[in-house]
Amino acid sequence: MLIFNNKASLNAHLVQLREQEKTIGFVPTMGALHKGHLSLIERSDAENDITVISIFVNPTQFNNAEDLEKYPRTLERDIEKIDAVNNAVIVFAPTVDDMYEGNTVSGHFSFDGLENQMEGKHRPGHFDGVGTIVKKLFEAVEPDNAYFGEKDFQQLQIVRKMVEKEGVNVKIIGCPIYREPNGLAMSSRNERLSNDEREEAGFIYKTLIAAKERYTTDTPDAVRTFVEKAFQNNTILKLEYFEIADEATLMPVNNKTEAKTRAFIAVIVGNVRLIDNISLN
Ligand code: AMP
Repeated sequence: MLIFNNKASLNAHLVQLREQEKTIGFVPTMGALHKGHLSLIERSDAENDITVISIFVNPTQFNNAEDLEKYPRTLERDIEKIDAVNNAVIVFAPTVDDMYEGNTVSGHFSFDGLENQMEGKHRPGHFDGVGTIVKKLFEAVEPDNAYFGEKDFQQLQIVRKMVEKEGVNVKIIGCPIYREPNGLAMSSRNERLSNDEREEAGFIYKTLIAAKERYTTDTPDAVRTFVEKAFQNNTILKLEYFEIADEATLMPVNNKTEAKTRAFIAVIVGNVRLIDNISLN
């Protein structure tokens, strides 16, 4: 495994690989790796000559200072985990200064309104931060293919939109959500949950499954009410939002449609915020 801590050394290495016409797959992460991340790495490895994994906790996408401070940083363990599944990859773990060159601020992006829904409403500035770092990382790596999890479905659609609008030459590949045995979507933030909270958080996916079943007969509004009621009596999990939205536009769906539709949820557990989603049709 090769590990690079700055763009210049990464680029010096990648230049040679590009000259040899090797295809480059890219998996951007913020570290604290779990099986969901590893599944993206395996997919990239199967579909490309070279896989680059970035590990970088991007300060500009955090709208909450405590969340940024408490975000788990476990670089040595992450490297061991990657090494155990594949020791022929490239890890790019730059510093904030190297990525931002002393100017740690977001650019401003328009994602045709995708940024105004759900996570965008609840995390002001979040998607400007995501757009900024993904653009910088794409410039540093110049991948042929880049792998993103459907766990962050809104982010996946926003990255697709950015690539389309800015004409970046990369194929974006969405990958399925990996879950704990109790259904909880794997997330680096799960490390901050107590055992009881982690167990109880299985309720999020159980409710999404129940919502999906109801959606076969009920209206979108009836399903929204069902989910809100389901969380009302839960003392551990606080519902932040539940939405049923069009996958392409992310606009709320009020009447059943043939268009691909998905349910999205955000829940607060203690001081940890969890998100999940499920395809409805
Ligand atoms: P993160 O480190 O949380 O920024 O995630 C890095 C990438 O891994 C993103 O594309 C995420 O959507 C993806 N990812 C995170 N959790 C999961 C999961 N449980 N299953 C599949 N992909 C995931």
